[in-house]
Amino acid sequence: MRGVAFKSAVDDHVLDELRAIIGDDARVRPDQSSRAFRSRVPAPFPVHRWADHFPDVVILPKTAVEVSEVVKLANRHRIPIVPRAGGTGLSDGAVPLRGGIMIDCKLMNQIHEIDLVDRTVTVGPGINMLKLNEELRKYGVIYPDDPASYPCSLVGGRIGTGGWSLLGARYGHTRDLVISMEVVLPTGEIVEISEGGGRKLRKSSTGLTLKQLFTGHQGTLGITTQATLELVPRPETEFAAFFAFDDYMKAYETVGVLTRCGLATLAGVVLFDEWKIAYLRRDDEAYIPQPESVKAVVAVAMYGRRLEVEPASREIMRLGRSRGGRYLGDEISAGDWASRHDRYATPLHGRDLDGQAVIMSWHCEDAALNYSVLPQVREEWHAIVARYRERYGIFDDWGMFAYTSGPHKPWADYLVEIDVGIWEQKLDDETWAAWVSCKREIAEVSLRYGGSITACHGATREGDAELVPQELGSAWPVVKAIKRALDPNNVMNPGKQSLDEAYE
Ligand SMILES: Cc1cc2nc3c(=O)[nH]c(=O)nc-3n(C[C@H](O)[C@H](O)[C@H](O)COP(=O)(O)OP(=O)(O)OC[C@H]3O[C@@H](n4cnc5c(N)ncnc54)[C@H](O)[C@@H]3O)c2cc1C
Repeated sequence: MRGVAFKSAVDDHVLDELRAIIGDDARVRPDQSSRAFRSRVPAPFPVHRWADHFPDVVILPKTAVEVSEVVKLANRHRIPIVPRAGGTGLSDGAVPLRGGIMIDCKLMNQIHEIDLVDRTVTVGPGINMLKLNEELRKYGVIYPDDPASYPCSLVGGRIGTGGWSLLGARYGHTRDLVISMEVVLPTGEIVEISEGGGRKLRKSSTGLTLKQLFTGHQGTLGITTQATLELVPRPETEFAAFFAFDDYMKAYETVGVLTRCGLATLAGVVLFDEWKIAYLRRDDEAYIPQPESVKAVVAVAMYGRRLEVEPASREIMRLGRSRGGRYLGDEISAGDWASRHDRYATPLHGRDLDGQAVIMSWHCEDAALNYSVLPQVREEWHAIVARYRERYGIFDDWGMFAYTSGPHKPWADYLVEIDVGIWEQKLDDETWAAWVSCKREIAEVSLRYGGSITACHGATREGDAELVPQELGSAWPVVKAIKRALDPNNVMNPGKQSLDEAYE
C-alpha cells in the first residue's frame, strides 16, 4: 500500500501532458486541498489513514475526448485512474487505493436531450438526480432512480455502483433504467454500449448484451461519459402508510403480505427492526419518536395515477393491519416518507458501553437476500455486531432495514442493511482491523444463506472484496479474463473487487 501522504507518483512531465490535453489549468488540480477533498466522502464515516488514499492529481474533464486522452496517457505511463462522481458511495469505490489520476466527472453535467416521444433523456455522468428531476418535472416526466442519497449522488456514480432505488418495486433500479451509454474503455477507446445498435432501444437480441457488464463495475471497466435513461410519467399522486408492530415477526409477515399483493402501483416496502427503531427513537430528529411498545415499523408507498392509487390505498390499509399493524397516522406516514432522503443529514449520536452519547460516524453493510432468510440473517448480524461492540467499545448497533426489490416482483429478494456507528476518534489500526473482520463476518453470513455480499454499495475494499471470488465461484475466471482483456495494464481503479488477481 502507498504509505506516505502527499508523495506524488505523477511527475511534472505527466502534469504538463495533462495540461496540454485539458488546456485549462483550473481543471488540472495537483494541489493538496483538491486531492484531499476528493478522497473524502460527504457522509461522515471513517476513512482510515485518509491521507494514504489521496489521488496524485484531480482532473475535471468536460468531454469524452478529454477523458479518452487522459486514459490513453495513463496507459502509456501505467498510472491508476479512479473515476469519481458525487463521492457518496458507501464502499469507498471512488477512493483511490493506489493514488493516480482522479477523473471527477462533475463538470459533465449537461442534459443533452429530452425525448418526450420515445421517452428518454440523455445526460452527462456528472448530473445529480435531484437537479435532473427538477428539470424533467417541467415536462411531466421523471427519472425514477430514488436512492436515499438522491440529493447528493450523480448519474455516473449510480451507474458505477449499480444502485438500488427506494421506488424499485414500481420502476426498477439503476440497471433497469439505463438504456444505453457512451463509455471510455480502460485503453481509451470511446464506445457505445446499448441493446443492439439502438441508443434508445430497451430490448434487442442482436449479439451479446454488454449493458449489465458496464453497470456496477465500480469504475474498474471504464468511465461512463454519457447515458440515455428511462423517463416515466410524473406520478400524479403518492400514498405512504407506516404501520407499527410490537413484534418483528409480525412486521416481517406483513411485508410478505404487502409485497405479494399484486398491486401495480406498489413502489416500495421498507421494514425497520427494533434496533433501528430504538436508534431513530433516541437520536433521529427527522423521525417522530414512538413509544417503547413499538418494536418494528413497516413503511409502504404507492405511486401512480389518482384513479389507481386511491382504491389501492384502501387495500394497503387493510393488508397493513391484517397481522396486527397499527397505522401511525397521516402525519407520520407522509412526513417520514418525505424525509427518506434527509435522514442521514442529522448529527450522528452513538452510545458508548455506559450509554453516554458520543459523536459517531456511520457505516453500513448491505446484502441482497431472499425474503425467506431475513429473520435468521438478522439474528446473526446483530450477534456479530454485539460481540465487537462488547470487546472494543467503539461500535454501536444502529439497527437493520430491508427494502423490497422489483420491478413488479417485489416479493423476491431484498436489499438488507445493518448500520453501525463507529467512534471515529478512537479508531486506530487495531480497531480498524476489528471493523474489517466484523464486515467480513457479516458478509460471510450473507453468502451462507445464499445471498450476495452487496445489493448496491459494492464489494470494493478489504472486509468484503476478498470474498468476491468466493461469491462468483466458477464464474470468477471469466470475470478475470474480461478484466484482463479490457484493461491490459490494470489502470482502471486498481485494487478494487479483488480484480488484481486477474494479473497474477
Ligand atoms: C446518505 C446515503 C444514502 C444512500 N442510500 C442509498 C440507497 O438508498 N440506494 C443505493 O443504491 N445506494 C445508496 N447510497 C450509496 C450509493 O452507492 C451512492 O449514493 C451512489 O450510488 C453513488 O453515487 P456517487 O455519484 O456518489 O458515486 P461515487 O461515490 O463518486 O462513485 C461510486 C462508484 O462509481 C464509480 N464511478 C463514478 N463515476 C463513474 C463513471 N462516470 N463511470 C464509471 N464509474 C464511475 C466510482 O469509481 C465508484 O467506484 C447511499 C449513500 C449515502 C451517502
